[in-house]
Amino acid sequence: MADTRLPRVVILGRPNVGKSTLFNRLVGKKLALVDDQPGVTRDRREGKARLLDLEFTVIDTAGLEEAEAGSLSDRMRAQSRAALEGATAALFVVDARTGLTEADRHFARWLRQEAGLPIIAVANKSEGRAAESGLMEAFELGLGDPVAMSAEHGEGLADLFEALAPLIPEPSDEPEDEGDEDLPEDAPLKLAIVGRPNAGKSTLINKLLGQNRLLTGPEAGITRDSIAIPWEWQGRQVHLIDTAGMRRKAKVVDKLEKLAVADGRHAVDFAEVVVLLLDATLGLEAQDLRIADMVLQEGRALIVAINKWDSAEDQSRLFNGIKKALEDGLAQVKGVPVLTVSALTGKGLDVLMEVAFETRERWSRRVPTAALNRWFEHAQERNPPPAPGGRRIKMRYITQARTRPPTFIVFGNRLDELPDSYNRYLVNSLRDDLDLKGLPIRINMRSSR
Ligand code: GDP
Ligand code: GDP
Repeated sequence: MADTRLPRVVILGRPNVGKSTLFNRLVGKKLALVDDQPGVTRDRREGKARLLDLEFTVIDTAGLEEAEAGSLSDRMRAQSRAALEGATAALFVVDARTGLTEADRHFARWLRQEAGLPIIAVANKSEGRAAESGLMEAFELGLGDPVAMSAEHGEGLADLFEALAPLIPEPSDEPEDEGDEDLPEDAPLKLAIVGRPNAGKSTLINKLLGQNRLLTGPEAGITRDSIAIPWEWQGRQVHLIDTAGMRRKAKVVDKLEKLAVADGRHAVDFAEVVVLLLDATLGLEAQDLRIADMVLQEGRALIVAINKWDSAEDQSRLFNGIKKALEDGLAQVKGVPVLTVSALTGKGLDVLMEVAFETRERWSRRVPTAALNRWFEHAQERNPPPAPGGRRIKMRYITQARTRPPTFIVFGNRLDELPDSYNRYLVNSLRDDLDLKGLPIRINMRSSR
């Protein structure tokens, strides 16, 4: 289980402060079973921890407490000496609800003098007001700013990350850096097609499936209730998402618009990539922009396909007009692929599928941490963050917390004072510089006090 190449982080503290709970939290569900295996885990539990993109071996010393005789702080020292051997850092956990005890203070002093490695004070059980004074007391440990956490509720993990990140070498940007969440090569592409009524969604789905499974035409009724139709394109798995409601032709005309958005939303929930189908004979309308906006808000990868291209006149003007209207109407749509297709003849559908796979690939990709932080430094040199009140806002580092959609966390001070224009600058240059064009991107700001 324990990986000898990974940095080691030891969890220390007196009984009942929440060490095991923190251990389980860091190791994740996979090791929750450990508690049920007393023989194996008696003295010391080790597990592989993952905190955002940090990877380390975490060592829980909870089991050691009973093994030693003597006073509590003697026992704490004994447990630590062994565990600290070869460690990179230690988390010294105190209970913010009960406040500091004499044993905590003694132990902290000993750690400061003897441990010889970085110690991070963790004030656990910090959820709620009952913990406020205990948290203040934790400053008195003399171990720097304590990290306020609730191991039980999963709060404060970002602050813990911030404290640990400078101490832990980055995982290499080799393929092994790719995390569990990453996409297996052959995972089916979850594809949804949305658009206003009569844009040609049913026709497109029929054409893609190559069989007349769905009814098309102006007076088509309700067809099957399938949600994902498994299907293959050039040997690759696709789940075509196709809600019954999407295909239902509403009888009441003035409800049509609302229905299109609501049904679209349903389909989008299941999808990775969403194709917004436009009708070339009608051009772009506000309704289309609303759907596009909703897709991106939901964090899905968007492709715009202009359908009925077979009956489009003055094609280049039409295409440029729609593209411009899209970008004028919705800034975040900039860079979204715009294609032309004919669901009726099948023209353009191979390109559409190719682009859908390629877009999902970029949407799922993890930007290597090194490249990300190189970009981050550059972006700040090009356009330094403002200095409200004469004090420059400090952005320290950035990490990609998630993919699908690409989600980043910026750490620094007073980030809540960054103007929206600066946030937009960051999002836009991240998109442009790191091959994320046309994708929904999220950046969260995490300030330390
Ligand atoms: P250990 O002896 O230090 O390993 O402590 P445990 O992890 O066994 O936790 C001791 C008790 O504190 C358990 O009842 C936990 O459920 C509880 N606990 C752990 N973390 C928290 C927390 O963040 N908040 C609260 N309120 N209770 C917690
Ligand atoms: P939906 O309401 O979005 O599912 O649209 P349908 O698939 O029912 O299509 C609405 C109408 O547009 C039908 O009469 C289709 O035959 C027609 N249509 C769909 N795709 C195309 C296309 O590529 N070219 C042309 N000329 N007509 C199309």
